Amino acid sequence: MAQETKKNKGMESLLSYLGNMPWREPVARFAATAKEWSRIHGRRVVHTVHGLVSGNRAAGPITYLAGAGALAVALTLTTLYSPSYAITVDGETVAVVSDESVVEQAIRSVEQEGSAILGYDYHVDSDIEYNFVVSLRSDLSSEENLADYFYSQLDEISGELRKYQVLVDGKAVGVVKDLDALNQLLENLKQRYVTEDTVSVEFANQLEVAPVYQADQIMTISEMEQALLASSTGSTTYTVVEGDTFNGIAYANNMSSSELAELNPGVDINRLMIGDVLNVKELIPVLSVETVEDVIYTQSIECPVETRDDSSMYIGSSKILVQGVEGEEQVSATITYRNGQETNREIHSTTTLREPTATVKAVGTKEKPKTASTGSYRWPITGTITSYFGTRYIFGSYSYHSGLDIAAYTGAPIYAADGGTVTFSGYRGSYGYLVVITHDNGAQTYYGHNSSLLVSVGDKVYKGQQIAKAGSTGRSTGPHCHFEIRINGTAVNPLSYLP
Ligand SMILES: [Zn+2]
Repeated sequence: MAQETKKNKGMESLLSYLGNMPWREPVARFAATAKEWSRIHGRRVVHTVHGLVSGNRAAGPITYLAGAGALAVALTLTTLYSPSYAITVDGETVAVVSDESVVEQAIRSVEQEGSAILGYDYHVDSDIEYNFVVSLRSDLSSEENLADYFYSQLDEISGELRKYQVLVDGKAVGVVKDLDALNQLLENLKQRYVTEDTVSVEFANQLEVAPVYQADQIMTISEMEQALLASSTGSTTYTVVEGDTFNGIAYANNMSSSELAELNPGVDINRLMIGDVLNVKELIPVLSVETVEDVIYTQSIECPVETRDDSSMYIGSSKILVQGVEGEEQVSATITYRNGQETNREIHSTTTLREPTATVKAVGTKEKPKTASTGSYRWPITGTITSYFGTRYIFGSYSYHSGLDIAAYTGAPIYAADGGTVTFSGYRGSYGYLVVITHDNGAQTYYGHNSSLLVSVGDKVYKGQQIAKAGSTGRSTGPHCHFEIRINGTAVNPLSYLP
């Protein structure tokens, strides 16, 4: 018993302390007498505490102290040491207290709680013995220490009634009966993220398992597992990078496209731009696991790029002359994961295993002609859109519309949507008077129903240059511009490309 060891240590240090004093004899006598005294006065009590020493204290050891050192010793004793009682319950020393009321108070509170748990009057029914000792004040047991002992006895009776409540960050998750199975479950939850490199694993939340006696509902261990693995939905953001698609982002975040669209009401899902920030769903498990791994891995080192000016190429274009070879380095790092997702990486050292070789790139310096394509489109004319791209109902039947119809007055200027070369300018069936511009990347733009044409095949035109006047030629019910964008010969929705 810890208290007993404590008590003995207190006595031992007292004896050794006193042993070093010059007036050794009376003190040694005191020590021996104290022992003797407590043996004589120790008595058995049941539950209640008798007036043990109040009347006898005058006959106690202090009386035996005499001589010049007596006062000094008494002061030392009252400062550091305290007359106290070793409490022996059913033959086992369980605590050292300064006052019998400490014992009474402990018993009273345990009896109160025991009665509440068990549903009948519970009494601490033990043989309690008090032995006088002198102890270091700091070694005295508190009421709490003592209550713990009586609780352990209550435990033996009420153990069958005990259950365990799991709290995560102070929030109750549920109650289970089997502590061993619960501990096993918690261990399994941790082990899910452990790899051969893991150096530490712990729960990221504050986890508490508290014994309880009353519970409305008991969970099975698998129900508890589900409750701890359940996720609440939070929201985080995602920044669009090159190559992303709306559906791809939705899929990667365990969402449907419509859920993603719902979270991002202001975003046109057909026109994602690099750097756009989207709201995405984030699943936060009730209980998170944080693992730390010490790892050594190799990674490539990018090739440095050397550029060479080339006056035969336009500004903005470039060409690889020599493709470099990537280097390789070994990295030693400590990586922190939450639920298997990296949250932090601390690089300790990097060792180059192989230097990369340089990539040599030719960079154009020639001034770009005004008629070169910019790669983006402008509106050929501003006006009301009277018919959109796709299937529509017109002339009494459903038909496919390969472009946008933009209302215009007759003679309104029609502008090239981007720079390029005129590859058709003339009358073509239902298009009426039509201009087709082929752009540098092969894409084509169509401008139909014009009243007159201002360019010829082979002309280089710049973005924003007027190429025709609006009209209602061909299959048309009123003056407008039929605008089409074709990529690899296939008409696409111009709204996906226009600003
Ligand atoms: Zn049209």
